[in-house]
Amino acid sequence: MSEAIDLSHHLSLLARSRKASPLKDILAYLHYPGMVSLAGGLPHPALFPFANIDVEVYNPGSDLSSLVSSDTTHISVPKVNTEGGVSLAVALQYADVSGMRALLKYAREFTQLVCSPAYKNWDVLINCGNTDGWTKAVGLLCEPGDYILVEEYTFSSAQYLWIPMGCKGAPIKMDAEGLRADHLDEVLTTWDTTHPGVKKPHVLYATPTGQNPTGTLMPDKRKQEVYDVCVKHDIIIVEDDPYYFLQLAPYVLNAPASTPTAYSQSAHLASLEKTFLNIDVQGRVIRLDSFSKTVAPGSRIGWFTANPLFTERLLRASEVTTQTPSGWSQGIIIRLLDEWKLGGFLQWLHGLAAEYQKRRDWMCDGLAASFDVQPSTHDASLTAYLKGTQTRLFTFVPPRAGMFVWLKVFLHENKQYQEMKGKLEEPELDYEKMLWQDMADAKVLLSSGNFFLPWEGKEKMDREENVIFFRLSYSMTSKEAMQAAVQRMADVFAGAWS
Ligand code: PMP
Ligand code: PLP
Repeated sequence: MSEAIDLSHHLSLLARSRKASPLKDILAYLHYPGMVSLAGGLPHPALFPFANIDVEVYNPGSDLSSLVSSDTTHISVPKVNTEGGVSLAVALQYADVSGMRALLKYAREFTQLVCSPAYKNWDVLINCGNTDGWTKAVGLLCEPGDYILVEEYTFSSAQYLWIPMGCKGAPIKMDAEGLRADHLDEVLTTWDTTHPGVKKPHVLYATPTGQNPTGTLMPDKRKQEVYDVCVKHDIIIVEDDPYYFLQLAPYVLNAPASTPTAYSQSAHLASLEKTFLNIDVQGRVIRLDSFSKTVAPGSRIGWFTANPLFTERLLRASEVTTQTPSGWSQGIIIRLLDEWKLGGFLQWLHGLAAEYQKRRDWMCDGLAASFDVQPSTHDASLTAYLKGTQTRLFTFVPPRAGMFVWLKVFLHENKQYQEMKGKLEEPELDYEKMLWQDMADAKVLLSSGNFFLPWEGKEKMDREENVIFFRLSYSMTSKEAMQAAVQRMADVFAGAWS
């Protein structure tokens, strides 16, 4: 295994110009035995108004479908810990911006176990979740006006970060296995012809697992193909992967409920598609892991894994922006992992995926009950027709990961739309908004597809004719509510296509 190659030419001017704050520089001296510090402006921990925090947590092998208060353990973070474990005096103090030592150790061990990066000198840095991670990655790599390679449909917040910087999305076509390596290669190979005089993109933003909004899961083979194209064109991959552990078995229409088997960590890990880090021999991947979907979004904790040049520059940016990640969150997560151990955490994640799989099945079964659904002959997608008719409404790929179903809705047979189309300024966008409003009036709230179209820097987005999209999430709804919502959708479709 070799070390990361030199990728310093990818750093933005801002990232290259950052200096360590002199106040941060002297922190290391605090640990010298016998040192009396008159240097820092630290509030004395004796004056923190908290004596102890006590948290009741579920046991990692609990049945997640019916968590019961009897299946819990108390963990605490005392004010002072004479045994060297986490304490409030340390957790709530100004501290190492890269993260508390115990959390860094867990993040390193977890990354080694799950992603085993394919180069030697990778490092981790705690951040405030993947939103923060992506913000800092853009600051690290991008200049105003840059084009950023993105999946054809992409997470809205990711691009709403860089739109005000004048950056633009260079969309890469997707299929049922995520972004297409052949199209990525084509876009980059023909860039100078298609965009004369415009700087070639050097950053790819991708969510390979449970992609938001399409729900696709990128298989290992595709990841290798994408990685190879990125090596060929010298592209940095930012792997925003918050749904990594929500990998689901293929959907089977109206499958009977499966009986849970005993947990095996090795079988669990072997069942997961790899990450880009697993194949990163050069250190060109910045992986973003988050506790948001595995523990709770309010924890606001995640971590970067990247080459040491990048983690050092990201640390400099963190020192002057977010500072030390929340001490409450770090302290509680450290104590949770002390209690569960990494094995217990993995077992919890396995149980979590089983819950999401159940919900995915409710959603897909619900769609199959409210529409006539037919499998495709050439890929994993299903086509939905208006019940009892041959009227094609939409296609979707039952997700293999994450929490989203992405509907590609066809307006070809919608007479209402075809009649009004000529009068609409932006026909697909305008009609998508109208149908979204009809759904909302019928009391079913969807995410509109246009939220996720790449911003190509034009007044109008490039759109496929006669096609609109909706994103449905199955994470938050009971089976009954989900069935009711899907039936309301079917009623709105029936009205609009009549
Ligand atoms: N501004 C000033 C003038 C300070 O003295 C400090 C703390 N030393 C900070 C900002 C940092 O504040 P916070 O911990 O709220 O980020
Ligand atoms: N990235 C993607 C692709 C997401 O779907 C989300 C959640 O909505 C996030 C990032 C936000 O993650 P975090 O809560 O870790 O900031």
